[in-house]
Amino acid sequence: MTASGTVHDPAFDPELVDVEMHVVPPTAPVTGVVTANELCLRGKSASFIRHVCIDVGGTPLEGRFRAGQSFGVVPKGVDEHGKPHKVRLYSIASPTRGEDGEGRILSTTCKRLIDEYRPQTERDEDRTGLFHGVCSNQVCDLSPGDEVLVTGPAGKRFVLPAKPENHDYLFLATGTGIAPFRGMILELLEGRSAPCESEIHLVMGAPYTSDLLYHDVFRSLADKHPGFHYHTVISRETMPDGRPQGYIHHYLDRETRLHADLLSRDRTLLYICGLAGMQTGVFQTMARLGVGGAYLKIHEELADVAPADWKAADIKRRVRPTHRCMLEVY
Ligand SMILES: Cc1cc2nc3c(=O)[nH]c(=O)nc-3n(C[C@H](O)[C@H](O)[C@H](O)COP(=O)(O)OP(=O)(O)OC[C@H]3O[C@@H](n4cnc5c(N)ncnc54)[C@H](O)[C@@H]3O)c2cc1C
Repeated sequence: MTASGTVHDPAFDPELVDVEMHVVPPTAPVTGVVTANELCLRGKSASFIRHVCIDVGGTPLEGRFRAGQSFGVVPKGVDEHGKPHKVRLYSIASPTRGEDGEGRILSTTCKRLIDEYRPQTERDEDRTGLFHGVCSNQVCDLSPGDEVLVTGPAGKRFVLPAKPENHDYLFLATGTGIAPFRGMILELLEGRSAPCESEIHLVMGAPYTSDLLYHDVFRSLADKHPGFHYHTVISRETMPDGRPQGYIHHYLDRETRLHADLLSRDRTLLYICGLAGMQTGVFQTMARLGVGGAYLKIHEELADVAPADWKAADIKRRVRPTHRCMLEVY
């Protein structure tokens, strides 16, 4: 068997939808109005992540975004060179019909960037204290009624296929990577005239259970819809037998129903979203288990290298997702 196992066959690629993009460009943002802003973690956590809803009704964005796409926020103020801040992208966490069912209110899952200051380049000053990301903190500070400059939508491939019921799904998320999957899963299960009866698995990886996002939403969807399966992998907690739970790729390795059954099917689509680097372990594990071929195009230079020896830089340059694998990491 090759490192990738099965081979990608374009006959099983999903039919893509035509999506609208850049209806509102960063050069001419429009004003949205915040309708809600609430913490979306499970109790006390070291992160601060909020579910923020923005009314774009009456702007060109109304009804023109899709679950899985992103929108832009232009922060207030100027950067250290006195220039207006650049737009930042945030994944849309609502289904295509919006939070309101009419395509007016979109939402996102915003994590405050707060950290000890660390120089990022040689030119950066050597100072101490806290570093606050500009846009994420502005978004998290917004109150209902506040105005915010928005753009978008952005993203063409990271959306559901044109015929959702022709596919089964494996969604892998870490951190705010859950945002597009909240929208897509709500869309599949509750956004259309009848729930999609496909098999849908969501695997959410987090350091602690208190870092799980929208946990109650996914639990109640799983209770209601027999085809939807919600799995959590808590890296800093242990399993009942005392072994560490590990990361998402360790879970994939343990759960034969995900790799031996779901990923081996011709109809399955794989979506990965979250922290940059999460794809490394996932791609290595899939290749090692022999289920990578349909989802990954592996450059011939890597074909004879054992997946465990693939370096992150090799994966970035020499392992490309096929049309059955949608990857968004940041
Ligand atoms: C397609 C896409 C979708 C995204 N979706 C989401 C989402 O749904 N939710 C979400 O929260 N984010 C999302 N992001 C990330 C988001 O766009 C912003 O990058 C993030 O919110 C940080 O922006 P900021 O303005 O707060 O930080 P900035 O003010 O832009 O600061 C970030 C920069 O500061 C530097 N920096 C970082 N840490 C430190 C440090 N400790 N000390 C000194 N300098 C540092 C780095 O150079 C970094 O580039 C997404 C990004 C992309 C590309």
